[in-house]
Parts: sequence; C-alpha cells; structure tokens
Amino acid sequence: MHFHHHGYVSGDPRVQPAAGIGIDRSAQLPDEVDVLIVGTGPAGMLAAAQLSQFPGVTTRIVERRAGRLAIGQADGIQARSVETFQAFGFAERIIAEAYRITEMAFWKPDPRNPSKIVRSARTLDDPGGISEFPHLIVNQARVLDYFGEFMANSPSRMAPDYGYEFVGLEVGEGEYPVAVTLLHTAGPDEGQTRIVRAKYVVGADGARSKVRASIGCTMAGDQANHAWGVMDVLANTDFPDIRLKCAIQSHDGGSILLIPREGGHLFRMYVDLGEVPADDNGAVRKTTIEQIIAKANAIIHPYTLDVRNVAWHSVYEVGHRLTDRFDDVIPEDLGTRTPRVFITGDACHTHSAKAGQGMNVSMQDGFNIGWKLGHVLEGRSPESLLSTYSAERQVVAKNLIDFDKVWSTLMAKKPEEFENPSELEDFYVRTAEFPAGFMTEYSPSMIVAEATHQNLATGFPVGKRFKSAPVVRVCDTNPVQLGHQAAADGRWRIYVFADAAAPGQSAAAPSPTTDLAAWLATAPDSPLAATPEGADSDAWFDVKVVYQQDHTGIEIGAVPAVFKPEVGPFKLTYLEKVYGTDPAADIFELRGIDRGGAVVVVRPDQYVANILPLTATAELAAFFAPLLQAGHRARELQDHAG
Ligand SMILES: Cc1cc2nc3c(=O)[nH]c(=O)nc-3n(C[C@H](O)[C@H](O)[C@H](O)COP(=O)(O)OP(=O)(O)OC[C@H]3O[C@@H](n4cnc5c(N)ncnc54)[C@H](O)[C@@H]3O)c2cc1C
Repeated sequence: MHFHHHGYVSGDPRVQPAAGIGIDRSAQLPDEVDVLIVGTGPAGMLAAAQLSQFPGVTTRIVERRAGRLAIGQADGIQARSVETFQAFGFAERIIAEAYRITEMAFWKPDPRNPSKIVRSARTLDDPGGISEFPHLIVNQARVLDYFGEFMANSPSRMAPDYGYEFVGLEVGEGEYPVAVTLLHTAGPDEGQTRIVRAKYVVGADGARSKVRASIGCTMAGDQANHAWGVMDVLANTDFPDIRLKCAIQSHDGGSILLIPREGGHLFRMYVDLGEVPADDNGAVRKTTIEQIIAKANAIIHPYTLDVRNVAWHSVYEVGHRLTDRFDDVIPEDLGTRTPRVFITGDACHTHSAKAGQGMNVSMQDGFNIGWKLGHVLEGRSPESLLSTYSAERQVVAKNLIDFDKVWSTLMAKKPEEFENPSELEDFYVRTAEFPAGFMTEYSPSMIVAEATHQNLATGFPVGKRFKSAPVVRVCDTNPVQLGHQAAADGRWRIYVFADAAAPGQSAAAPSPTTDLAAWLATAPDSPLAATPEGADSDAWFDVKVVYQQDHTGIEIGAVPAVFKPEVGPFKLTYLEKVYGTDPAADIFELRGIDRGGAVVVVRPDQYVANILPLTATAELAAFFAPLLQAGHRARELQDHAG
C-alpha cells in the first residue's frame, strides 16, 4: 500500500486524503451532477467506486431503497471478481469471510434404486489453475458494503443517496443535457419529485430497468421465464455433501443446485420450479417456503433436511434476455453523436442463476464504464471513448447468455437423456475458464490494438485481462504478484519488460530499455507528456519495469528515473515500481515474454491494450495520441498561457 507521501498518516491508510468534491462533500443531492448512477447493485456500486477515484468529477449514486441491501440476491463470486476486489483493496478481507469452492459434487439417481440419489462424481473447481484467486460464495450485500467502504474512503468521500427512485429522463442540449426525474421514496419529502440534471447517466437499476425503458432499448430473448425456489437456510441434515457445491438430480427430474455459504452453517438451495407457462399469471411466485422445503426433501431422498431457520427465500424468475444496445445512441445515429446514457448489469442482460454469473458480469460492466467516464469528464480523453462501452460489453453479455443456455439445458436434463454419464461434469471442467470470468477478449478498437506483436508476450493476449505472475520487488526484496500491484485508481499501466541488460550494465551503449525510459520521460509525444502540470509524473500513467535478472543483479541507483517517479508534495522518490524476476517462477518464462524485451500496455480495468517492442516509441505514441488528445491540448493551452 502506498501512503505517507503526502505526510505522516497515523490512522487507517486506506482512507485517502480528501480532494475535489470530497473536501466539502454536500450531504444533499445537487441539482447538477456530472454522472448520475441509478441503482446500488453490483454494477452501479462498482461504477461509483471507480468514479470515486476522480474527485474532480461530481458523481452521485441514487437508490430507491431507504438503505443498504441487507440480504438475498446473488452470492457467486468468480475468480475474476476477486481479482477485481484486489484492485479495490478488499480481496483479502472478503476471502477471509467467504465460503471457498474447491470441489463440486454431482449427485444422480442410484441406477439400482432410482428413488435414491447417490454421488456420481466430484470435480475440482479449478483443475487447470486458471487463477491465483479463489472462487467464492458470499452474499451480494457484503460485496456492496465493501464497495461502499472504498467509496467512503476515496478522495471524493462518496456515499449512496438512498430514498430516490428514478422515474424518467430526457436527453436535451446544454452542459447538463440529461434531465432526470426522481421521486423521493423516504424521508420528509416522500412522494415528491425533483429534477436532477446530469452530463451522463448510468442505469444500473436491475432487470426491470426504467432507465433502459427511457432510452427505448428493448430486451429480446426467451418468451418464458424459468423459476427457482431459492432459500438461504440453517438446517441439520444427513446429506453428506451439505458443505460442498452440488448439482443434485432426482429420478423424477427435480433438481437442486446446492451452494454452501459463508460462516460454516448457512447454505443456499436453488430448487428448480421449471419453465413458467405464459398463462401462469404470477402463480409460481406464490410458491411457499414450506413447498420449497418439501420439494428439496423429496429430491434429496433418502437424505432429509431439517430446516431450523430461514434467513431469506424468494422465487427467482428469470429468462435469457439481452438488450439491443447498452447506450442511448440508436443505430441510425451511430458515428454522429456519442452516448449520454448507459445501461449496465441486469438492465442489459439476464440469465439463469445456475452459472452464478449475474453479479460478476454486472460488476465488469461497471468497471468498464467507470474509468471511461472519469477520463472523458476530466478532459483526458475524447468523448468517442464512451462509444467503446456498448461495443465491448454487448459481446460479453451475448457470450454469457449463450454459455448459460447450454449449461442450464444440461442441468435440466433427466439422467437418461445424457449422451454419456459424465456429460455434465465434463462440460463443467472443460469450460471452467468461462464461468471464472477470464474468457472476455475485447476486439481491436481505439483502446485495444491489433495483436501485431503478440509474439513478444504470448502469455498476455491482447484484449484479455492482464494475468498476474510472481516477481520480486527490488528495493525491499519482497516477492509479490505483479498484477496485484495495480490499484483501481483509473490509471493506464505501462509494463516495461526489459531486455537482457541489467540497469547501468553498459553506460557506453544504452540498452533499448534505457532508450525507452528516456523517451517516456522527455519526448513531447510520450503519453506521459499529457500529464497535467503540477501533478505527479505518474498521475495518469503507472510505469513499471521488470528486469530479467533476479533482484540481487539490479542496482536500483542505475534504474532510469521514469521508473522511480518523484511523488507527493515532498517530491519523494518512489522505488516500488522496479522488479526483478523470481528465479523459482520466472515471469519471462511463465508469460512467454521475448528476451529482447517488450512493452505491455494495460487499461485501467486491467485488460491488455497493446504489446510493442521496446523500440516502438512511434507506435506507442500513435496508440495513445487519439486517447490523449484532450490532455495534450490542455497542456498546450497551459504552455501557451504560461
Ligand atoms: C429479488 C432478486 C433476487 C435475486 N436472486 C438471485 C439469486 O438467487 N441468484 C442470483 O444469481 N441472482 C439473483 N438475482 C440477480 C442478481 O442479484 C443480479 O444478477 C445482480 O445483482 C445484477 O446486478 P445489478 O447491479 O445489475 O442489479 P441489481 O443488483 O438488481 O441492482 C439494481 C438496484 O437498482 C435499484 N433500483 C431498481 N429500480 C430503481 C429505480 N427506478 N430507481 C432507483 N433505484 C432502482 C434496486 O433497488 C437495486 O438496488 C436476484 C435479483 C433480484 C432483484
């Protein structure tokens, strides 16, 4: 953790110094805001948490509930989400309180006596070691709490504005073109409406999104919903795998997805209630908890379930659906204007709970839009950056829905319908990278380059998220994970994987690494040149170097200055961006990095944007030029004025 650089911090270093709107944050929701986020679910809270790192941007997040979510909704946390939590600083704490999935068990009717279930298989949850992060189960409410804490500790001191329901919006002209009508749902003004004007609106208001409706998006997909009786319960049982994630199929086709929960006792059961007929008229929603428990008992026969306490239950009804677009730009207007309103999470895509994806994919939507809004509103990047949100996330949602359809169909099959007895387990293992969240691969765009130089770092596929690997920090000889040194602070990252020369090894003939370092620090077309006057030189770009030597072979004094920026009001030299390899797990070997070196550019949301040779300064400049136009222009204006 990086602190004390603004002066001694005696309290919790997670509380960052207040800045911008955080210095005197208004308790009242202002009439004009830069970004208005609607809904405090996982999508909205992540977008807000990311924007809380931009204290020059006025972001508010409104919620119709009177307070925090207490219980219920989703609970599956894929490894990619835990990786994201690491960047937001709470992975360790949430891992400590969560349930960790290491194996999954499959139960089927006993072929000799189909009225009884027997365990048919067990599979490792992550047999291929996809990630160093675990697959967790923890209630959605706790995830939201952690994002809330992050926001409160951020420079902008952000907090949700509860008790406001979004009613509608209109996009007009002017500096704050989106007029949003909100209804007070709590407090002294309950029942009254008010208008808040925003530059941008993010609809994170769930499956029945009114923001979606207000921009004319339609959800297409399944005609019918599928229903599950969901219960979070405390119970005694003789079912031996009650503390394992299980897919349980009974002989009559009834099935359960069992999800053990945090704390050692609680578990969730999804009891399949089947397709909801068109003429159901809400009848399935009247399924009582007693009926759900009775059905669960019938499915797990010969075992029994003695429910002692029901913490939460619901009939969760959902279909596979996707919106036609994720923002307010209709197809006829594409290319003629940039979006003002975005929708995220369940507002754009819904799917079954079986693959445990809802909260996870929604959070990545929030991560994707958050930094882009921050960069545009701070003037770093042009508005065209915002058009990449819908283009990138719609593909991800479509892939998720396709995957979930296959998985749901497999789980709904009766035992006799399987082509082979292990079809379900085989699919689970074969496709593990998808539900873990690591299959997302963004296509080339203004923020993802063509993979022309992929051969220089084969283990960092362009468009996929930056997969961490061990390194050793030179200054304090600490072994660390390189990817974990990247906070969700909205900065681009430039990882310089050095050529074979150690720093300072050959002063007479500078290496490509030293040449690149000099260019980054001084060239007018270096991306770092766009950094605002007066800000730390690493304020917009976090530049790190990894040498091929182990830490004993690296003389920190000889490392070029761009990798040791001066930070804070005391201009302190920051030494923690210089790494050597771990001889037991050489990152150059693990990630297929060319021994001639490579530059790996990583987006603020952790996706690999470009890979270049160390000498390709012109290409690096050309990649960032359209993204930093606004920044370079501001700098030019400043220079001109000065
Ligand atoms: C009742 C319920 C039960 C669920 N159960 C499960 C489950 O068992 N398993 C599972 O995997 N997933 C479940 N989900 C889905 C899962 O929670 C979502 O996939 C995930 O939370 C998506 O995140 P989100 O941020 O897009 O939306 P949500 O988490 O739905 O958050 C939307 C937020 O917007 C608020 N909101 C809605 N309309 C307005 C408005 N007009 N004005 C202001 N605020 C508004 C809501 O109160 C809510 O806080 C459930 C969802 C709901 C709503």
